[in-house]
Amino acid sequence: MKLITATVMTFFLLALVSANANQAAASELGAPPAASGKDSQSIKIIKMGSQPSSRGPATNFTGTVHSEPLFQEIAPSRLSANLVTFEPGARTAWHAHATGQTLIVTDGTGWVQQWGGKIAEIRKGDIVRIPPGQKHWHGATANTSMTHISLVERIDGKSADWMEKVSEEQYRK
Ligand code: MN
Repeated sequence: MKLITATVMTFFLLALVSANANQAAASELGAPPAASGKDSQSIKIIKMGSQPSSRGPATNFTGTVHSEPLFQEIAPSRLSANLVTFEPGARTAWHAHATGQTLIVTDGTGWVQQWGGKIAEIRKGDIVRIPPGQKHWHGATANTSMTHISLVERIDGKSADWMEKVSEEQYRK
C-alpha cells in the first residue's frame, strides 16, 4: 500500500514539474503563454505611483500636458484610461476616436469643442461623451488648468486619429 501511494505521488510530482517546464518553454518562445491566461483571470492591483507619467508630445498637443497611465486594455476589453493634466493654455490638437471617448473631469476648469460647434466649459465633476469619429479637441482654459480621466478604446494599438493643431484664433472663447 505504501509503495502504491509513493508511486502515485511520484507520478503526480513528475507531472507537475513537466507542466511547469512546458509553461516556461512556451513563454520563452513568445507563445501566448498559459501563464498570461492565468494572470488575466486574477484580480490585479496597480499600485499608486507605480506607472511613470509622460509629457504629451508636441505633435499632438499645444502647451504643457502630462499624461499618467491608469490602465491598459485587457482583451477582450479594449478600454484603456489615462489621467491627463493640461496647464493653462494647453490643449490637444484636433482629433477623433474610432469608438468615441469619455472624459471625467477630476480637477480644474477646461474647454471642449466639436468641429463646427461652440467651445463649452467643463468643470471638476463633469462627464463628457464624445461620439465615435467626431472631430474635437479638449484642454485647459487660457487661465486655469484642467485634469480629466480619459476613457478610450484602443484598436490596433491606436486610440486617436490626430489632425491639425488648434490655432490661437480657434482657442478663444
Ligand atoms: Mn479626445
